[in-house]
Amino acid sequence: MKVTFYGTRGSIPVPEPDFVRFGGNTSCVLITFSTNRIAILDAGTGIRKLGNDLLAASHGQYDEIIIGLSHTHWDHIQGFPFFKLAYDSRRHITLSIRGQGRSIKDIESIFERQMQNDFFPVSLDKIGAQLKFWQPELTRVTHPRGVDLEASKLNHPGGAYGYRITEGNKTLVYCTDVEHADGIDPNVVYLSRNADLLIHDAQYTPEELQGKKGWGHSSWEQAVEVAEQAEVKRLALFHHDPDHPDAFLLNVEEEVEKRLPSAFLAREGMEIKL
Ligand SMILES: [Zn+2]
Ligand SMILES: [Zn+2]
Repeated sequence: MKVTFYGTRGSIPVPEPDFVRFGGNTSCVLITFSTNRIAILDAGTGIRKLGNDLLAASHGQYDEIIIGLSHTHWDHIQGFPFFKLAYDSRRHITLSIRGQGRSIKDIESIFERQMQNDFFPVSLDKIGAQLKFWQPELTRVTHPRGVDLEASKLNHPGGAYGYRITEGNKTLVYCTDVEHADGIDPNVVYLSRNADLLIHDAQYTPEELQGKKGWGHSSWEQAVEVAEQAEVKRLALFHHDPDHPDAFLLNVEEEVEKRLPSAFLAREGMEIKL
């Protein structure tokens, strides 16, 4: 399994020169399985370049491409109208949120609304690709091609889901937009257990978090605590705050590495083989 970060920023894109090192695009991660099949996590603004790269590589997956969404806050869906594969009638794209205790409304209507002509010139039904929207109430599923998926509900305003994806003996956990309300959430530790790579929300510094209770995010220190308790092999800090330029994040990374040498800050364009 290979993970490629196309968007590492939280909340809003920051296309500014002092943000290029860690990246300005919002949440989007490409997973490439050992079979060369792909899946995508979140459709933030990073999905635009992801689609362009797939087209440039003539990526031939014309049956189901799954875009697994953590939730539908704007920074996780905003890039979808610029995902060129969605304009190709030969492509089958499934947009999915999986997990029990559904609190997120019908995702099809949310994507329709985002592309109403008040906001965008092309409506969802004219986009071209065969689209499917799927919100199964399940916590665990094994796909026929040997990929296991486990979902866990996260504490976040409006709801969000974290995913544990296993292929063979390698496990990726994607856990963004999560607030640890009282101490560290044991469900997040369980979801992350012994993962080869944990991608975890780290929007704030520990000091900033004090003033951001109820906003739905974590500090880097909490992400490190999850990684330690869950004994993960590597930790990628993710969903960087739009007011944290590169110089700031480099300082954070130095502090993080002192605390947990296997931790790093996710950068746009970074590829990690598990
Ligand atoms: Zn977000
Ligand atoms: Zn959110």
